[in-house]
This record gives sequence, structure tokens and C-alpha cells, in this order.
Amino acid sequence: MKQTGKTEKRRLKKVPIYEFKCPECEAYIDKFLPLSEYLNVPECCDRPMDRLLSAPAAIIQDNTCYRSQLNGQMITSRRQHRIHLKDHGCIEVGNEKIPEPKAIESPAGLKETVIETVNNYKHKKR
Ligand SMILES: [Zn+2]
Repeated sequence: MKQTGKTEKRRLKKVPIYEFKCPECEAYIDKFLPLSEYLNVPECCDRPMDRLLSAPAAIIQDNTCYRSQLNGQMITSRRQHRIHLKDHGCIEVGNEKIPEPKAIESPAGLKETVIETVNNYKHKKR
């Protein structure tokens, strides 16, 4: 999990910003939603967008308690956090970095060496 400064964490916890993704065109939007408007899901492509849970809950640490912005419930463990999100149809979007896959480059001449070795092997056997 990405480390953020103390001030940053406090700010994020107080501001319920939700991310929505359109299942049709995959457009993303960020939206500030007061709790009272939690159920007002924006629409795109004539259908409701999927809610992704953004920063507020995503930054909790393993030992952090917080009050849910969904229903006011106290969440006191990582496990409870996961279950709570699942029960409300939310997913936690990662702060984790997914490494870029590295292209594998063969050393120069390797392919030729392999072909030559295999051919020599065949010739010896027959
Ligand atoms: Zn759309």
C-alpha cells in the first residue's frame, strides 16, 4: 500500500470521492457524493455506471478503524473491511503498482546456436 503523509490521509478520509466506470464504453469519472446521494449513480451510455471504491476506504491500514461512509458501521479489521465492501457491491481499487512486463530478448546468435546444435545432434544420432 502506498504511503501517504498524515495530512494527506486525513484529507482523503473526509472527502468521499467515488469513482465510476461505464461498463459499456469504459469511461471513468470521479464524483464527490454526500452520503445522502449515495444511491444516485451517474449514468453513461443509457445505463448506470459501476461504482468503484476510491481513495477513502482504499487507504486504510491493517490496524486502522474507520466509520463506513456506506452505512455508518464501524469497520475495525481488514477482514471486516473486505466483507463490508463485498456486501455493498463495492470493490477496492488498488494502490498497488503492476509492473510492466519486460520483453525477453535473446542474446544475439542464440537462435542460430540452438538450431545448429539440434541439427548436429540429429546428424550424430542417425
Ligand atoms: Zn459509457
